[in-house]
Amino acid sequence: MNEKKQHFDVAVIGSGPGGYPAAIKAAQNGKSVALIEAKDAGGTCLNRGCIPSKTLIASAEVLHKIQEAEQFGIVVGSVEFDYSKMVDRKDSVVTKIRTSLEGLLASNKITMLRGFGKLTSPRTIKIMGKDNIEITADKIIIATGSEPRNIPAFPFDYKKIHDSTSLLELRTLPKRLAIVGGGVIGCEFASLYAILGVEVTILEMMPRIIPMEAESVSTALAKAFQKKGIRIETNAVVEGIDTSGKGVKVKLAGGKTVEADIALVAVGRKLNTSDIGLDKAGIAPLDNGMIPVNDRMETQTPGIYAIGDIASKWWLAHVATHQGLVAANNATGHPMRMNYNAVPSVIFTSPEVATVGMSLEQALEKRYRATVGAFPFQALGKSQAALQTDGFAQIVLDKTTGQVLGAQVVGHEASTLIAEMAIVIANELTVECITETIHAHPTIAEAWMEAAFVGEDAPLHWPPKRQNK
Ligand SMILES: Cc1cc2nc3c(=O)[nH]c(=O)nc-3n(C[C@H](O)[C@H](O)[C@H](O)COP(=O)(O)OP(=O)(O)OC[C@H]3O[C@@H](n4cnc5c(N)ncnc54)[C@H](O)[C@@H]3O)c2cc1C
Repeated sequence: MNEKKQHFDVAVIGSGPGGYPAAIKAAQNGKSVALIEAKDAGGTCLNRGCIPSKTLIASAEVLHKIQEAEQFGIVVGSVEFDYSKMVDRKDSVVTKIRTSLEGLLASNKITMLRGFGKLTSPRTIKIMGKDNIEITADKIIIATGSEPRNIPAFPFDYKKIHDSTSLLELRTLPKRLAIVGGGVIGCEFASLYAILGVEVTILEMMPRIIPMEAESVSTALAKAFQKKGIRIETNAVVEGIDTSGKGVKVKLAGGKTVEADIALVAVGRKLNTSDIGLDKAGIAPLDNGMIPVNDRMETQTPGIYAIGDIASKWWLAHVATHQGLVAANNATGHPMRMNYNAVPSVIFTSPEVATVGMSLEQALEKRYRATVGAFPFQALGKSQAALQTDGFAQIVLDKTTGQVLGAQVVGHEASTLIAEMAIVIANELTVECITETIHAHPTIAEAWMEAAFVGEDAPLHWPPKRQNK
């Protein structure tokens, strides 16, 4: 039987933070839209990433605050917590957001198709699962995301060797956790578990944790972690994990062994591009699975766009969302280009880390006459009042023009503070724009104004540099 295929103006494969905003934007632009999802609406970010991890981190922060209460003059006695209740709360937050997302998609008249989508030509997609159909679309946006990368030498068994997804599902805490990989995900779990009283060891093969960040930032986080009792082994190449005994024995090159109850392996992500029929659509991914796109997020096949983890080195939900808006606008006749100059990036550790734009090292490499203005939280009234004196904010600027090129902050509320610098950098503002902006007192955001004054060699609440005689 030759059934007529259902047709859409735009079809989006994958409903993560890349795919679902792309679907909404295309619908807002007046198009008929199909959104194809093999698992749960919201993708990795909502179901297995950003939201569940930050919900558990929020619970841990409350515990930490209560443990510190005495320093604020509050007597609370002994404090206990029930981890399984924290996990219940995480699950209910995720379910609540997913339900409202599904409602939002329906209110935008987006047709949700449930199943695994595979391209069968540059304009057709076969869906296999709850919905079993083939559809045609004028424009296609691929947003299939990524999943934890399995290492053949020590594969996940989800009992003793976990990935981030299975670790988020555990209902009881181990006494000791070994984390293979000191990147963003490894460090966030290290921080969370340490607050909950777990003995944590991070094993990082590079010379420092969060090696993609500026050295000053990674050193500050390492110091804060060590103060909290987190063990860090750098230049540690893991060769295998022995699970034959009671716990795990992580074997390092050179013969050293680290013992723990369970291990988390967080060494990168595998891109979901290998079995989605790219060849049928004339798209050749790179060796690592990434789909090459132009600054309109269009692939080498006109009319097919790729966004999110599969389409750039930025594996961040908000980048996926912005790319989704760019792709959807281009696909519906509203030209828009992607620009990565001011991508804020946050690590939700204790203390938080947030960066945007260039580090000093990157600015010098690009031959800017770059310098840094840095200000410690310790010198801020609000930090003293809130007992949050660890950390600093720093601004990287071009000495020739005064333009702000980058900013880094380690400390309380870094995740919120970075928004100000994202606006500064996205709009190519100068340090004067910051010093001439009145910052409310007492706030931690004053750190930016103070760092800008330091950058101008005119520090306000910090001693002047000693003059050379
Ligand atoms: C533990 C953890 C914490 C994180 N925390 C943060 C954070 O705090 N901030 C941040 O910015 N980022 C964070 N991330 C990263 C963030 O989750 C990803 O960058 C983001 O989800 C990528 O979005 P995406 O739309 O590209 O893909 P995904 O979110 O991975 O979504 C892809 C969707 O496509 C579906 N799919 C795949 N193939 C098909 C197919 N063939 N047919 C139909 N559906 C398909 C998948 O089921 C999935 O739902 C975190 C990640 C993890 C793992």
